[in-house]
Amino acid sequence: MNEQLYIDGAWRKPVSGQTIPVVCPSDGKEFARIARGTAGDVDAAVAAARRAYEGPWGKTTALERGRLMMKVGVKIAEHAEELAQLEARDTGKPLKQARADMVAAARYFEFYGAASDKVHGEVIPFLAGYTVMVKHDPRGVTGHIIPWNYPAQMFGRTLAPALACGNATVLKPAEEACLTVLRITELVHEVGFPPGVVNVVTGYGEEAGAALASHPGIDFIAFTGSPGVGTLIQKASAEHHRACVLELGGKSPQIVFEDAPFETALPVVVNAIVQNAGQTCSAGSRVLVQRSVYDRFMGMLAERFARLRVGTHDMDLDCGPLISAVQRDRVQGFVQAARKEGVPVLAEAQLAPNLPAGGYYAAPVLFGNVPPTHTLAREEVFGPVLSAIPFEDEADAVRIANGTPFGLAAGIWTRDGTRQLRVANAMRCGQVFVNGYGAGGGIELPFGGIKRSGHGREKGLEAMREFSVVKTIVINHG
Ligand code: ADP
Repeated sequence: MNEQLYIDGAWRKPVSGQTIPVVCPSDGKEFARIARGTAGDVDAAVAAARRAYEGPWGKTTALERGRLMMKVGVKIAEHAEELAQLEARDTGKPLKQARADMVAAARYFEFYGAASDKVHGEVIPFLAGYTVMVKHDPRGVTGHIIPWNYPAQMFGRTLAPALACGNATVLKPAEEACLTVLRITELVHEVGFPPGVVNVVTGYGEEAGAALASHPGIDFIAFTGSPGVGTLIQKASAEHHRACVLELGGKSPQIVFEDAPFETALPVVVNAIVQNAGQTCSAGSRVLVQRSVYDRFMGMLAERFARLRVGTHDMDLDCGPLISAVQRDRVQGFVQAARKEGVPVLAEAQLAPNLPAGGYYAAPVLFGNVPPTHTLAREEVFGPVLSAIPFEDEADAVRIANGTPFGLAAGIWTRDGTRQLRVANAMRCGQVFVNGYGAGGGIELPFGGIKRSGHGREKGLEAMREFSVVKTIVINHG
């Protein structure tokens, strides 16, 4: 199954006849292969999705779609341990993280399965003798390109709302990690979705991904990944005058005011950058701390940082390896450049002894007094590197927090209720947490960015708006 593509309800070999190695980041060793899908396979997948959309799938009721989706949620929950083991090996993430991911992956299908028949239209008062209805139609055939950091969660996050709305889908997962995507696709098959409703084409981004993004046969595309590729996706969408939703990462701040509840904040601030080895779009990669408490807070934070343990996925410590040698080298490039420029290192975690030599490990690093204009304070590192920045007062905090090219999420730590709301309102980003951060998947919570973090919203009922189009029907009945 791994070496095949899922098209039109069946597993088939790719046109190329070739495969791509799958490597475990914990030891750098190949342990599986996936099919190298290319443009011809994408053509077949899009054609199958179109047939499904115009055929039986297009005639299903929201209730029928919802029931099928709920069954996928149940199947994922039943296979959660097997899937978590596979996800951990494929991505290198600690097992406990992979287990939490499966809870979220199942939850996407439950949430959108249950929501499928609850998004209603409107009736608009108009001229005498008229009835005007506003309804939400599916987009049609939707394309989905997802990254390697949370393969199973991303599968649910992008496909479940699209299916709930009645679209037929073609998904291109990331070549670095997608084995749980293939396994969950088998579960989707088992619950009995009509052929062509879900198609999965593995392959390289420049081949299968580019072919899907530029395909004239899709009506919408949802992309999560790097800003550079996001630009390509949007350009390809522009060629066909079609909409897209882009989620492109961030440089999200945690703002710690002098009256913050330190004991609550500390573990959350650490986890927000160490979870998934910092390879999370909404990672809290900057911590802004009020000058009056900077030394005290940073002392406590550094102590926690230094105690973090890094190991293989099955050692199940605080942090696993990065996804690939390329990613590790990129992260270490940021760290080495900052060290050379004299940015102070306040703490560095230790790698567990005797880790496999071929693994892609990078120790979490805490930098202090990072100038807000520094690369570390502005660019997405996508690794376990936290940059601390002191600020003077509320206005200073807001200016620094908003002063990057990104705008995805923010955390605010203060006991002052009026300040909580003032600062939350001032944040230029898509999601704000007060005295907390992250939401264990946050399936119900609209999520997305502004500026270089992208546009459009995933998660929550908002995602169903993205995957549907409004149609106004005006009836003159005299
Ligand atoms: P990352 O830096 O996190 O790997 P990418 O943006 O490179 O992020 O990858 C995210 C997803 O986009 C992956 O599925 C990848 O295969 C795909 N991708 C990469 N390049 C392209 C491209 N030129 N066109 C379409 N998809 C691409």
